[in-house]
Amino acid sequence: MNASHKLNQDLKKIQEWATKWLITYNGSKSNYMRISHKKVNNYFPPLYLNNVMLMEATDTTYLGLTINNKLSWKPHISRITKKASTRLRVLEKYKYAIPRESLTKTYNSMVRSVLEYGNILIDDCTLAEAAQLEHIHRKGALICSRANKRTESTLLFKELNWDTLKERRKSTKIILIYKIENNTTPKYLKDSMPQNVANRSNYHTRNHRNINTIRTRTERMKKSVIPSSISLWNNLGSEFTEAKYGPINKFKALLRKQWYNRSQEKLHNYNVGLHSHIIAQMRMGLCSLKGQLAKYNIISDGSCQLCKARSEDITHYLLNCPAHANARTVLMQSVSHLIDIRRSSKPVILSKLLHGCSSYTSFENITILTALHTFIDESRRFTATH
Ligand SMILES: [Zn+2]
Repeated sequence: MNASHKLNQDLKKIQEWATKWLITYNGSKSNYMRISHKKVNNYFPPLYLNNVMLMEATDTTYLGLTINNKLSWKPHISRITKKASTRLRVLEKYKYAIPRESLTKTYNSMVRSVLEYGNILIDDCTLAEAAQLEHIHRKGALICSRANKRTESTLLFKELNWDTLKERRKSTKIILIYKIENNTTPKYLKDSMPQNVANRSNYHTRNHRNINTIRTRTERMKKSVIPSSISLWNNLGSEFTEAKYGPINKFKALLRKQWYNRSQEKLHNYNVGLHSHIIAQMRMGLCSLKGQLAKYNIISDGSCQLCKARSEDITHYLLNCPAHANARTVLMQSVSHLIDIRRSSKPVILSKLLHGCSSYTSFENITILTALHTFIDESRRFTATH
C-alpha cells in the first residue's frame, strides 16, 4: 500500500513536470512491471498516470534487452532466436551463390550479432535457453560450411575455426575485465570493481594481481556479470601473468589456445573452386560417399557402387577405388613433390590432401587443393547422377 502510494505521488510529479514542459504522456500506452521472485503475486493497488490506470506488464524491452518480472531471460532469448532464425533463412538461400568467407561475414554481422547482443548479461541464462542459442549458431555453421546437416558439431566448428556462443560469452567477460584492468573502459566501470588484492594487503602474495572476489549470497548473484567475470580472471593460470597486462591481441590469442586449444592458424582457408564444399565435407567426415552416409545411418548400404568394395569411405575413394585409377595417377603426379606417396602412411597422405600442411607455403597448399579439385572433376563421383 505504501509503495503504490509513493509511486502514485511520483507519477503525479512526473505528470506535473510534463504539463509544465508541454509533454504529453499517454497513460493508456504506458504500463508498469513488478519484479519479484515470489511465486504468488500479492494484490497491488492500481497506479495512475494522467488519470489513466496503468496496466501491469510481465515483460518489457529496454535498450534491446527484454526483461521480465521474474528476471528470467526466457522472453528475451525467445525473441532474439526468432529474429535470428528469420535472418538465417534468408542467408540459406544464398548458400551456394556466395563463397564461405562472405557467408561467414554476413552471418557474423546479421545473425550472430543478434544472438550476442548484451551477451555477457545473458550468460546466466538456463541450460535450455543457452542450447536454443547454440542451435541457431550451429545452423549458421552448417550454412557457412555447406556441411551435411548430421555433421558432428566439434568437427563443424573445427573446420570453420569457430567458437561456440558459450565460449564467446566467456571470452567477452574476461576481455571486459582485461579492459577494465588496463584502463581502456570508462572510469565508472573501474570504480564499480573491488580493489586488487595487492591494494588491500601489505604482503606480497602470489595472487597479488587478483581482484578481490565479491561476496555473493545467492547462485543467481554469483553467476551475474561482475562476480563471475572476476572469478574467471582470478582463475587464469600463471601463463597469463604477463599477458594480463600486455597487448590485447596476445591476450586473446592465448585465451583461445589455452581455453579451447585453438590456434589462429587458418589451414582451411583455401575455400576456392567449385568443389570446395565437397572437400570441406570430407574434412568434416560426412560427404555424400556411401561409406560415410552409412556410418551416420543415413543409408544402410555403404558399399562402393563402382567396384563393389565393402565401404566407400574417403580412403577408398581417394586412394583405393580402381574406378578412379586414371584420375588418381594425375593427382599423385601433381603432388608428388609435396607428398611422399611411397613412404607416407595413408592417414598422412589423406591429411595432407584434405588439410594441406602448415609448413608448406600458400602456393604449395593451393597446388594440392587444385589437384584435388581436378581429381573430383575427373572421377565424376559427385556429379548429379550419384
Ligand atoms: Zn570403389
